[in-house]
Amino acid sequence: MSGTVLTVVAQTSAPAWTPSTLETMRRLESAALRDNYGYEKLAHLTDNIGPRPVGSLQAEAAVDYVAAELRKLGFDVRLEKVRMPRWVRGEDRCELVEYPGQVQGTTQKVVVAALGGLGVATPRDGITAEVLIVSSLAELAALPRDKVAGKIVLFNKRFDRRMAESGFAFDAYDGAVGLRNSGRLEASKAGAAAVLVRSVGGSDARIVHVGATDYENAAHIPAAAITAEDADLIVRLSSQGPVRLRLVLSSDLHEEVDSYNVIADLKGTEHPEQIVIVSGHIDSWDLGTGALDDAAGVAIAMATARLLHEQNLRPRRTIRIVAWMGEERGLLGARSYGKEHAAEMANHFAAIETDSGAGHAMGIYITGDPALATLFQPVAEVLEASGAGILRDLKEPAPDLIPLYFRGVPAFTPLQDTRRYFDYHHTAADTLDKVDPQELRENIAVVAVLSFALGTMNQELPRQQLTLPEFLK
Ligand SMILES: [Zn+2]
Repeated sequence: MSGTVLTVVAQTSAPAWTPSTLETMRRLESAALRDNYGYEKLAHLTDNIGPRPVGSLQAEAAVDYVAAELRKLGFDVRLEKVRMPRWVRGEDRCELVEYPGQVQGTTQKVVVAALGGLGVATPRDGITAEVLIVSSLAELAALPRDKVAGKIVLFNKRFDRRMAESGFAFDAYDGAVGLRNSGRLEASKAGAAAVLVRSVGGSDARIVHVGATDYENAAHIPAAAITAEDADLIVRLSSQGPVRLRLVLSSDLHEEVDSYNVIADLKGTEHPEQIVIVSGHIDSWDLGTGALDDAAGVAIAMATARLLHEQNLRPRRTIRIVAWMGEERGLLGARSYGKEHAAEMANHFAAIETDSGAGHAMGIYITGDPALATLFQPVAEVLEASGAGILRDLKEPAPDLIPLYFRGVPAFTPLQDTRRYFDYHHTAADTLDKVDPQELRENIAVVAVLSFALGTMNQELPRQQLTLPEFLK
């Protein structure tokens, strides 16, 4: 169906929300802007439980904690099992062992951290080899094999800080992250001994930005990230002459363990079979405590649950709070949910996830039929009172919603100030202090109002027919 036809439908049928429902949204918004529950949950997940990598005791504890808290709010809670390989960081060590101007008897430390989810360690004494710097896969492909064989390949693609600071943080990230994802495989094919990736982030505090690499492909060479400052140092020294590095990595991929998505339902009064998902992901990387990524998203979803409970609001459709597991390891929990619930997708009315921190909220991003933005204008008008009235289309949904989106489910996420997000994301500096309590409340207000709007609206949403990509089947 075309957007034009749907707009006509929207104009001729009953309004999506009655004046009294819109009034309830305003009440919900002002209650959210006074909320302390969300920040308390965020503080517990990060300060008390700590880092939550897949398969860790902390990830398990976080599952139990979120489940227990949502049960207290009267939600019907269950855990849906997903098997996931556990990955444990070992020793991460890197040093410059030969370089122009080296003072005899010394080496220089390079700040390094293994990329996640990869079960390839170096030999115990490490790999010592000359470094080869490339800034793209094309540049690597153009090199003869004997130039690459046995080398430590450094992928040196700069994260564009000015782009991020201008409000295009995800474009800046997308511009650089490809090499972290697929560089290892290509370098391995070309005979490299190991791979280093320049940190994909905006920090200038010499901290490493980690993340996943494409571990599903059999490329058995170790891979790690180094800081932007260390990458620049290696580039400068390499312009003067050959540079040799020693790299020691002992991270290991362990057995598959039982892990869980937390699913908590507030049954709809009229259409209990129709589901509105409100979500964040519970796992994090191991270096920080995953406050921005993504305890904030889980806390926002939990605070939404708490506000509905506190205000005694029972929407017509089921509100389903989900704390996804394994996002950082390739959307493992969300992909499993998409497959397990494939037959019920027509009843998944809409889905929300917050997974880009908790910066100042300015509105709603929508991924789906272009006619959706028109439909949600009345909701934007409610949120405008608190400065969050922008409605924008977003090309790709929040990560855990990808399996739902490709099965036709409209996807929503708060539109936030993300200019500083990649200064901390996936680093040791992703900690509670990076979340401003009032900005967290702004996000809770957007998600709570939007959840209630989706749960109560008197209209169906237009859906898209998309082709399911291979990795989601
Ligand atoms: Zn995330």
